[in-house]
Amino acid sequence: MHPKLSEDLARLPELLDIARRCAVEALSGVAERPAAVPPAPPNPASLPDSGVGAEAALERFQSHWAPGFSGSAGPRYLGFVTGGATPAAVAGDWLTSTFDQNAAAGGDSSALDLEREATGWLRELFGLGTAHEGAFVSGATMSNFVGLAIGREWVGEQLGVSVAQDGVAALGNVPVLSGSPHSSVYKALSMLGLGRGCVREVATLPGREAVDVDLLAAELAALDGRPAIVVANAGTVNTVDFDDLRAIAGLRRHFPFWLHADAAFGGFAALSPPHAELVAGIDEADSVCVDLHKWLNVPYDSAVQFTRRRDLQVRVFQNAAAYLGPVTEEPDFVHLTPENSRRLRALPAWFTLAAYGRQGHREIVERDIALARDLGDRIAGMPHLRLLAPVRLNVVCFTLADDPTAERVGALARSVAGSGEAFLTPTVYKGTPGLRAAFSNWRTTGADVGRVAAALRAG
Ligand SMILES: *Cc1c(COP(=O)(O)O)cnc(C)c1O
Repeated sequence: MHPKLSEDLARLPELLDIARRCAVEALSGVAERPAAVPPAPPNPASLPDSGVGAEAALERFQSHWAPGFSGSAGPRYLGFVTGGATPAAVAGDWLTSTFDQNAAAGGDSSALDLEREATGWLRELFGLGTAHEGAFVSGATMSNFVGLAIGREWVGEQLGVSVAQDGVAALGNVPVLSGSPHSSVYKALSMLGLGRGCVREVATLPGREAVDVDLLAAELAALDGRPAIVVANAGTVNTVDFDDLRAIAGLRRHFPFWLHADAAFGGFAALSPPHAELVAGIDEADSVCVDLHKWLNVPYDSAVQFTRRRDLQVRVFQNAAAYLGPVTEEPDFVHLTPENSRRLRALPAWFTLAAYGRQGHREIVERDIALARDLGDRIAGMPHLRLLAPVRLNVVCFTLADDPTAERVGALARSVAGSGEAFLTPTVYKGTPGLRAAFSNWRTTGADVGRVAAALRAG
């Protein structure tokens, strides 16, 4: 054994204790860490020949890299849709690495059954019925990818071909209809060989990001019986608008299409009885995407993917090999997701649900919604700002009252980030440059909203 490795083996408990102290210090200070840290010019070191051992590596990390890390796990990082990690989720993540299970194929570990228990809990949490079966993937992009891959196979089934066997060329063009699809849908379609160009953006309702269902019906009718894929959006990133999922699902009585619901963070509306109506009908989708590293507050990277057509999923993702055994009634995850070997990503989610349950996570969701409303009210009262849309859930989308050019809005974002107080990301909403403040962290409080508002006033 390499001497540094054997020294570290002998000192393992002590080393883990040092790492634990480092984590405790980071997490205790996360609320006061600058929300954003502009990176210094990089100065990459050369590959160590012999190495310094874990303790010295940790010291080097602490002095050289950690100060440049953002407060993205903290309460005033409101960029993108981010979320932190609950205490139980952090513990679960540590143990994922500790036990280092390969949750690909079963027979030697209970890890796959833990993942099945966790996906069952999530299914219930998001109001899906038992016809939906889930698997963990690395994020909503991969969840959309898997859902659309199953949809692609379904279109093949309608046309009497198997894309998994014969390739996309057997399929011809596949129309993919959606009102305000997330950018990752285009990326997924590119990876699937269907192409970004197959998306037909259907007009949204006036002043909204929700699809006009009558226009969607008209576009489906014009396909004249050709099978299609519809991506329904349950929570758009700019204004958290929701398609009418029930109405869209109802169109399947008249037109053949695969219904994929991108509920990356909007799916969490189901946890709050006053907001659950926003996702009514989601159970009728053929595939559903929900991100977990956003509003469930588990560490990166984690999302869940549900479908009613596991048979088609297996057709796409099966990895038949003698040493992996046959595909059974309850297929191993190696036959369900793009990865073969995969970490037990389910464990942090299992931990946070075991620790806080439905009510604990409902409280996080409802508090974040209330905080977004609060910031929205404060912004509405600031003469130099105006809201671009009502606050429907957890995102405040706003801009400068006068002359909101990309440059001036960007300057406000930089000034807020530069103060270290908060981090917000720019966007363009219906042609107007603006900013988004997305609330999805379990730590955020009313006092944080006060600090964000003060930073916006000063900016
Ligand atoms: C965040 C998001 C995605 C992509 O998620 P990743 O976890 O970054 O892959 C897809 N759709 C929507 C609506 C999102 O908010």
